[in-house]
Amino acid sequence: MELLKKRILQDGKCFPGGILKVDSFINHQMDPTLMYEIGKEFMARFKDRPINKIVTIEASGIAPAIFVGYLMHLPVVFIKKKQPKTMENMLTSVVHSFTKDRDYTVCISSNFLCPEDHILFIDDFLAFGNAAKGVIDLCKQSGATIEGMGFIIEKAFQGGRKVMDDENIKVESLAIVEDLSDCKIVLR
Ligand code: 5GP
Repeated sequence: MELLKKRILQDGKCFPGGILKVDSFINHQMDPTLMYEIGKEFMARFKDRPINKIVTIEASGIAPAIFVGYLMHLPVVFIKKKQPKTMENMLTSVVHSFTKDRDYTVCISSNFLCPEDHILFIDDFLAFGNAAKGVIDLCKQSGATIEGMGFIIEKAFQGGRKVMDDENIKVESLAIVEDLSDCKIVLR
C-alpha cells in the first residue's frame, strides 16, 4: 500500500532491537484518514472470503479493525489483555510480548467467538507471530474458523509469517519491513 509505505518512510522511527515506532500516526496519535484507507485496503484483499466477524487485540488493533468492520458491515470483537471479573464463558491463552518482554494472559468470551464464526483477524504489527499464535489457539478452543489475518505492518526479518503458513492461513500485510538495522527503514 503505497500511501502507507510513504508515511512509514516519512514519519516512522527505528529503535534498537528491531522496533519500529509509528506512534505519530498509528498507535498513539492516529490518522483517521490513513486508517480509513487501511480499512479499504484490507476489505479489498479479503473480499473473496466468507467472513462474518472481525477480531483484533487491544489496544492498537482496535482502530484499524473498527474501520474494516464498518466498511464490511461486520461486528468487531477485541481480545482483552486483562481478565474482567464479569466476563462470561472466558477462553484464555498466554502470549509473549517481545516489545514488553513478558508473558500475559489474553481472553475473549466464547459468547463472541463461537463455532459458527468465520473471522478476519486484524492487528497493527506482525513481528514474531506470538499474538497470532494466541489468536489461533483461542479460535481452536472456540471452534471458530480463521479466514485470514491482516497486519498493517509486517517485520519480515522476525519471521512471524511462518506461524500462519504452518496453519495454511491467508496473510495480508499492507507494508513489509525487510530490515531495520543501522536505524534505517528498508521496505519491500
Ligand atoms: P508478535 O506477537 O507478532 O511478536 O508482535 C506483534 C505485537 O507486538 C503487535 O500487536 C504490536 O503491538 C507489538 N509490536 C511488535 N513489533 C512492534 C514494533 O516494531 N513496533 C510497535 N510499535 N509494536 C510492535
